[in-house]
Amino acid sequence: MEKPKKLHAVLLSSPGMGHLVPVIELGKRLVADHGFEATVFVLPLQASPAEAEIIESTMTPKLLNVVELPPPDISAVVLGPEAGVVMRLAVMMREARPAFRCALAAMEARPDVLIVDLFGTEHLCIGDELGIPKYVYVPSNAWFLALFIYSPTLDKEVKGEYVDRTETLEIPGCKPVRPEDVVDPMPDRLDQQYREYVRMAGETPTGDGILLNVWEDLQAETLAALRNEEFLGRVANGPVYTVGPLIRPVRPAGLGKELLEWLDKQPSESVMFVSFGSGGTLSAEQLVELAWGLELSQQRFIWVLRQPTVKSLDESFFDAGKGGADDEVLSFLPSGFLARTRDIGFILPSWAPQVEILSHPSVGGFLSHCGWNSTLESIVNEVPMIAWPLYAEQRLNATLLTEEIGVAVRPKVLPSKKIVGREEIEKLVRSVMVEKEGHTLRARLRELKRSAQKAVVKGGSSYESLCKMKEDCEMRICQIKKAH
Ligand code: UDP
Repeated sequence: MEKPKKLHAVLLSSPGMGHLVPVIELGKRLVADHGFEATVFVLPLQASPAEAEIIESTMTPKLLNVVELPPPDISAVVLGPEAGVVMRLAVMMREARPAFRCALAAMEARPDVLIVDLFGTEHLCIGDELGIPKYVYVPSNAWFLALFIYSPTLDKEVKGEYVDRTETLEIPGCKPVRPEDVVDPMPDRLDQQYREYVRMAGETPTGDGILLNVWEDLQAETLAALRNEEFLGRVANGPVYTVGPLIRPVRPAGLGKELLEWLDKQPSESVMFVSFGSGGTLSAEQLVELAWGLELSQQRFIWVLRQPTVKSLDESFFDAGKGGADDEVLSFLPSGFLARTRDIGFILPSWAPQVEILSHPSVGGFLSHCGWNSTLESIVNEVPMIAWPLYAEQRLNATLLTEEIGVAVRPKVLPSKKIVGREEIEKLVRSVMVEKEGHTLRARLRELKRSAQKAVVKGGSSYESLCKMKEDCEMRICQIKKAH
């Protein structure tokens, strides 16, 4: 008997590690567990070795095709030097449309389904042009999705700046959002990137469904609100498929000899890992306070040390993973810090094998910017966090992790607004590494890890959710065929 033809999924990732990683992992999951073929189109940031490595890692074993689109020419688009990350990503994705169309036309056979990430919603029309179902992958959490898709409504209903409000923003059926927690394009409604954000939010529910990098037990109530017609179901306008946690696998040789040897020598759960994602940087003053805080805590640490913010956060995002001048970075540390912490600290300039570090048994805490990939990597490795949000949706994530999910502690002030002092950092580190608080967080993490593991195997909620998405997709293909 002839084998049934496999569905061929085309996935499109916007630039940046935070998008590339979960899109590639979704592609792999579709192929490995759900009988799809997959091609991932990526729009990489230029010359980022970290991104090149992610793409390279898909080659063995080769589960999917990865095609790099040529960097779009955005020279004709008037973008001031102050244009934010969201603005620049939106423009890059828009200008990549002709290249994406060409690449699809050059494929041997027409694909069967299109999946774009949230910056790619302007590509959904290509699904219509090809007559195939189309989905939006939001590689983040359900509370973010709720705020995101509700933003066009808030935009109509709320007057003035969100951040000037004294009351919270109400989202039907969900935990209200504090004004200081809104995602980055929201604090300045006059900025052109806010308009791009609202446009993307409005386009997201126009696909055949939304995929989300969480699992059911992690955010049951918010997911229920997203599906309830009386709450956000009206706005979501279709199924929300939970597909997570989708995270990068650990590479056996990823740590490298020196780091592995150092980690192997440390006691179990004794090392605090300090890293701010692919683009996060601190001010010179904050960097000094952090160094003192770590030293005063007397705990072991690995610190991914970046040049302090001489550039804007937005520029740092676009330089992510490129590496930097190691010695120059060290000169920002307090005098004598390196010598005094020689036996307890390990400094990595610019970039770290993060998943491998978090999965090492010696690691017992993660001072993190709360990017969603980092958060998931921490949860599945049972590593409690100090939430140190900087930009994007990280403030929202930090509140979710501390007040709802219960896997993190955080400073009293927002680190993106005020300097967190050394004594507070010392206390936070100790609370996670040696105090009772750390035990409570670890107990919660053990539960979550188990539920995450269950979710992704056959019969688990995320596995079944992707089965359902495939079924719905096949039905949609038949409907579209009939309609033509
Ligand atoms: N990452 C890494 N090494 C680093 C910094 C980041 O491997 O030094 C990886 C990290 O493991 C995660 C991704 O890059 O998979 C960052 O995604 P996240 O959503 O946490 O934050 P973003 O970088 O998008 O702010």
